[in-house]
Amino acid sequence: MIRPLVPRLAVIGAGLIGSSLARAAREKHLAGTLAVADADPAVCERVRALGFADLVTESAAQAAQDADIVVVCVPVGASGAVAAQVGPQLKPGAILSDVGSVKGAVLEAMSPYVPAHAHLVPAHPVAGTEFSGPDAGFASLFENRWCIVTPPEGADAAAVARIVGLWRAAGANVETMSAQHHDLVLAITSHVPHLIAYNIVGTAAHLEETLTSEVIKFSAGGFRDFTRIAASDPTMWRDVFLYNREAVLEMLGRFTEDLTALQRAIRYGDGDTLFEHFSRTRAIRRSIIEQGQETAAPDFGRRAAEKPKHEDS
Ligand code: NAP
Repeated sequence: MIRPLVPRLAVIGAGLIGSSLARAAREKHLAGTLAVADADPAVCERVRALGFADLVTESAAQAAQDADIVVVCVPVGASGAVAAQVGPQLKPGAILSDVGSVKGAVLEAMSPYVPAHAHLVPAHPVAGTEFSGPDAGFASLFENRWCIVTPPEGADAAAVARIVGLWRAAGANVETMSAQHHDLVLAITSHVPHLIAYNIVGTAAHLEETLTSEVIKFSAGGFRDFTRIAASDPTMWRDVFLYNREAVLEMLGRFTEDLTALQRAIRYGDGDTLFEHFSRTRAIRRSIIEQGQETAAPDFGRRAAEKPKHEDS
């Protein structure tokens, strides 16, 4: 018998990310025992039916009992409350981690509940889709995606290595950085783009009725892609903007300045500025494809894809 990577793994929150991690752990035999908790009895019922956990409970505390690693997979705003339930159950040497899209606020919210004999090692798998809930998850979600681990200063090296090992075993490429740096990078690569999508789809919805129905009818590539992103979970994204406020506002400020420059180029018929700008952005797209983070297939590979399209969140 091969010894599993984690004798007992607890996943708290069985939505898209939690159920994907649990499915990956099950499929790759990463955990001796896999305990899954979700506050919603209907979600627990569904997880039992889907059959990817050994223990399913509404109690985060019960799932965390005797666990070697506890991964909190709930909206960022709920991570402190879950840490408060889980903290007293953590055995000596246990590791508390999470998957939240914001790291500084999560670190602050969870730290007070981690006993001295346990470790806190937050992480963020940069992978997702616009769907939520236990049925939306799939075991290959993290395959070849990045997972950013953000250990607090002075974190136990062995505990960090275990979390890095867990995500690598789930298929992810892992990078380590500070929570503060993570929040700044993700503000521009994920959070502001989502805000732009929410905004542009909202603007279309506010147009007068006939125009709105024409927008839907003639929905072209660019707008259609925004609607997919703007269909992402409202609770999760509300929390991202509430808890990564500073970095998002900083990046929004820069974005607004650059947008004003483009607006000015359009107003004054400055084609050179527009052409030079669009050439630079096309090169960025190409380098993302070269690094294997996106497909070069026309229409973003949408027609070829069987599975929901990956989203970096
Ligand atoms: P999700 O599909 O909505 O799942 C969250 C689950 O957590 C739901 O079942 C929810 O139950 C449950 N929950 C909420 N509060 C809880 C609590 N106090 N105790 C136990 N369970 C609780 O969300 P998700 O997309 O998996 O996101 C989870 C985390 O992953 C978030 O922090 C998000 O920032 C991060 N993340 C998301 C993505 C993405 O693309 N979606 C990517 C990377 C990271 P209810 O439905 O009853 O609220």
